[in-house]
Amino acid sequence: MRIVLVGPPGAGKGTQAGRIVDRFGGVHIATGEILRSNAERGTELGRTASRYMDRGDLVPDEVMIDMVLERMGEGDCAGGFVLDGFPRTVPQAEALERRLEELGCPLDAVVSFEIDEDELRDRLAGRAEEQDRAEDDDEGAIRRRLKLFGDETKPLLDFYDDRGLLVRIEAKGDLDEVTGRIAAALAERGGRAGAA
Ligand code: ADP
Repeated sequence: MRIVLVGPPGAGKGTQAGRIVDRFGGVHIATGEILRSNAERGTELGRTASRYMDRGDLVPDEVMIDMVLERMGEGDCAGGFVLDGFPRTVPQAEALERRLEELGCPLDAVVSFEIDEDELRDRLAGRAEEQDRAEDDDEGAIRRRLKLFGDETKPLLDFYDDRGLLVRIEAKGDLDEVTGRIAAALAERGGRAGAA
């Protein structure tokens, strides 16, 4: 299946993406991880991205679109994918839509992770301790990421709802329960699309 995950930082997209790939196959493309790995290796992309990520800003659309379309051009995406962290803006979604149209392989579903802000702040604080993610440890950067989610990423929900692709999932609660909700919704859609 070809799936996009949309949700605020801390909503659990990364964890659930791994589980979706285990059940439904395909590759997990996590843009935040690709950027962090580039930053660690000191590549040009990594250096550019760090300037934005450290402040909690979005990396510019052109940079992200080039990076993801290149990644999707590697053959393994033909067997399906779970996009985690992209698109995050309407121009990114439009670029993805154009490319998938050219390839003749449209998205099967867009899963929206629905969760309230208080829960997110607690989770991000916990994650900063567990993993070494500086941008989760900075109040200002967290506030900025949550605001950007509302301003830039939320409009994607209407974009995908208009296309009949949007599935809303309650992202609060036990990890297994959330996985169960997503799997049930995807199985239903996969069944309808004949491409589980
Ligand atoms: P989270 O979802 O918790 O914010 P990610 O690991 O997905 O974490 O992303 C970390 C950072 O990488 C973002 O805050 C942003 O700076 C950058 N980033 C990742 N994906 C994108 C994207 N599609 N567009 C712009 N910036 C992005």
